[in-house]
This record gives sequence, structure tokens and C-alpha cells, in this order.
Amino acid sequence: MSTFQAPKGTYDLLPPRSATFLAVREAISAPLRNSGYGYVETPGFENVELFSRGVGESTDIVSKEMYTLTTKGGDQLALRPEGTASVLRAALQGNLHKAGLLPVKLWYSGSYYRYERAQKGRYRHFSQVGAEAIGSEDPALDAELIILADQAYRTLGLRNFRVLLNSLGDKECRPVYREALQGFLRGLDLDAETVRRAEINPLRVLDDKREDVQKQLVGAPMLRDYLCDACKAYHEEVRALVTAAGVAFEDDEKLVRGLDYYTRTTFEFVHDGLGSQSAVGGGGRYDGLSEMIGGPSLPSVGWALGVDRTVLALEAEGVTLDIPAATSVFGVALGEEARRVLFGKVTELRRAGVAADFAFGGKGLKGAMKDANRSGARFAAVLGERDLAEGVVQLKDMQSGEQGPVALTDLVDVLRSRLA
Ligand code: ATP
Ligand code: MG
Repeated sequence: MSTFQAPKGTYDLLPPRSATFLAVREAISAPLRNSGYGYVETPGFENVELFSRGVGESTDIVSKEMYTLTTKGGDQLALRPEGTASVLRAALQGNLHKAGLLPVKLWYSGSYYRYERAQKGRYRHFSQVGAEAIGSEDPALDAELIILADQAYRTLGLRNFRVLLNSLGDKECRPVYREALQGFLRGLDLDAETVRRAEINPLRVLDDKREDVQKQLVGAPMLRDYLCDACKAYHEEVRALVTAAGVAFEDDEKLVRGLDYYTRTTFEFVHDGLGSQSAVGGGGRYDGLSEMIGGPSLPSVGWALGVDRTVLALEAEGVTLDIPAATSVFGVALGEEARRVLFGKVTELRRAGVAADFAFGGKGLKGAMKDANRSGARFAAVLGERDLAEGVVQLKDMQSGEQGPVALTDLVDVLRSRLA
């Protein structure tokens, strides 16, 4: 073992488990790529202001979890703790939001950083795949995103997840509710930090996981009773479209989520096999965010799904993904000249689009055949000195065990047709 270890709260993705991660990223993004979302990639760090304004000073993310740094030049930066603020910044900066081009639909995949108490399912470096539909107030977009996330999880084979749905109201009705909730919270017996939170962002108190807090919240005014007609109608339309798509959801009036920028639709995907780190993904509408970071009014909706927790959810359900072997043909050569010739054939196969690997390191037949087995290749191409003299190579079907000579000059064509 080396003297160095991965930093606390991080872990390395190594084969074979890393293949599952790639497949999960692929499976989550496939429905997006198939639905008009374009790929966006932003830097791993941004000006710290973007997050303190965009995510919100009172959130755990900004107040406790952000990795901030001052560069040698004096810039205040933060490793990105989430994707939405960056993607919106990039869309604004790149002028993607011109009238007539809306909504701008984007998807992303990458690493995110939060200084959290590390535990299973909660890391300091983690991966998300996310989607944002920017610049349009259309309940069908909210529905589309919920439906696509559901499709992604189902394609992966997940079953024990639930969709929680709520509306947070808008700038008309939320302030009225906020006021009512604050009045209620002032009458409770809460610790100093929660009292402070109740003054800055009272809705987040509803999200408090502690039982003594939850007990006191019984009888709290509920946002549902305060939604204005426009928000009610909008929410009903989202619910109707999601229902019509056959996606089951639960109305969860206490779902507020940790970010300040959400308005109206808010949702979370939870998995019941993950203990307390049960949220595998979440999102919602954020109509006010663009203006908060200095842009024009751009009502938008998005989600981010956690890749790490999705992999844990698959493991919890005992789902193994059907990941095809990376290698189709494995070359085993015995003797110097045979090595040179077969290495050339492996190169030819690769150039012809056939996934091929080779027994490196001068192993004997037994060790090389073990490598061939481990590779998962469908065929082993074995070239000994006598074969070479006869101009043939022994092709072994690793599934049936059948073996026979093939002319060296035909090898690429034969393999291409047998693998087709
Ligand atoms: P939680 O309530 O569990 O802290 P969150 O509300 O902070 O989640 P979001 O900011 O909505 O999470 O991020 C979306 C998804 O990203 C989460 O549902 C989760 O799957 C994943 N995620 C967030 N933080 C972490 C983390 N520290 N480690 C692993 N995955 C994470
Ligand atoms: Mg969190």
C-alpha cells in the first residue's frame, strides 16, 4: 500500500465497479440526449459569489459545505457544490437565452464537492448527472423532467424508489405563507440556530429531520392552503401530465429542499434501501435564480441525480447491470516472431473496430489463457510457432470451447463476421 490515501470523504472508482458508474451516467443521460437536451460542461470552480447569491447564504451548502479558496492572484473561488447556478451562468454568458430560442435544454455530468460529514452515501466528492430547461414557464417541462428521471431509473432496473412532489408557490403567494409560518414557528421551543433559520428561511425548518422538531411542527400552516390560483393551476397541470405518463408520485407538503432558489414545482426521488441518505435525486423550478445572479427573468426547471447513490441503490436492490465485455478478441502468441505478427493483427482488428486485447508481459500459454478468460473476450486467437509456419491462427470460441485454424490473412474478416 502506498503512503497516500484518498482524502477523507472521497473514494476511487476502480474496475470492475467503475464500469457500473459509467453505465449509470450513460443510462441517466440517455433519455435526456433523446429528448432535445444538449451537453454542457462548466468549470469545476466558480467565483464564490455565484453560489452565495445563486444557492443562498442561508443554505447548508453555502454556509457549511462549500470548499472555498483564494487564488495566488487574490480571486475568491469555490469548488462547485452543485450544477444549476453554473449552468445558468454559462447559458447567460454564452447568450443561449435569446428570445425565440427558449427553452434552452441542457444536460451535464460531473464531479461536485461539499464539505460534509462523510458517511455511506454522503461524500465530499460525488457525481451528478443533471438537466436544466431554461427560460420557459411551461408545466409540460416540469413534467418532462420528472418523467425522464423516472425513465432513467427504470431503465437501470431500479424499482424501490418513490417520487415526492410539492409546490412551493411563487413570489405572489409564498411571502404570505412565509409570514404565517414564521408566526407559528415563533411560538415553538427551538434551539438558537433553528430560530435564526426560521427568521431567514422559515420553510427550511419544515425540512428539519430531527424528531423533536418534527413533533412541534404538527399543526403548522401548510403551503397548500396558501397557493395562489395561478400556482394551484400550474401544479395541477404538472400532476395531471405526470399521472397521464403513468408515473406514480406522492404529494409531500413538507418537501422544500435545501436550496433557496426553488419556486413552484419541487420534487425528490427517494430510495428505500439507502437508510438516511435516501435521496437519489431531486430538483424543481427556479424562476427567480437568473435575476438573483444578474440575468433577465428566465423561469426554469431542472434536476440533479446523484450517481454515487444510484449505484448504492442498485446494489441495495441486488440489480447488476448487463455490461457487455469490453474486449471481443484476445490475442495469445507464443514465441518472438508469433508475438510480432499477432500484435500486428490485434492492431488491425482494433482499426477495423473490433475490441481486441493482447497477452502482454511474455506469459506462457496457461497464464495468457487466464488473461483471455478474465478479459471476457468471446474469442481467443492463439498463434504458436507451428501455426505461424503454416500461416494459420487457432481461433477458440471461449463460450463453446470450439477451436479451429483460420488463415492469418482471413483473421480480421472472419472475426468481423462471427462477431456481427
Ligand atoms: P441531502 O438531503 O441528502 O443532503 P441534497 O438535497 O443536499 O441531499 P441535492 O443538492 O439536491 O442534494 O443534490 C442532488 C443529489 O445529489 C442528491 O439527491 C444526492 O443523490 C446527490 N448528493 C448530494 N450531496 C451528496 C453527497 N455529499 N454525496 C453523495 N451524493 C450527494
Ligand atoms: Mg445536502
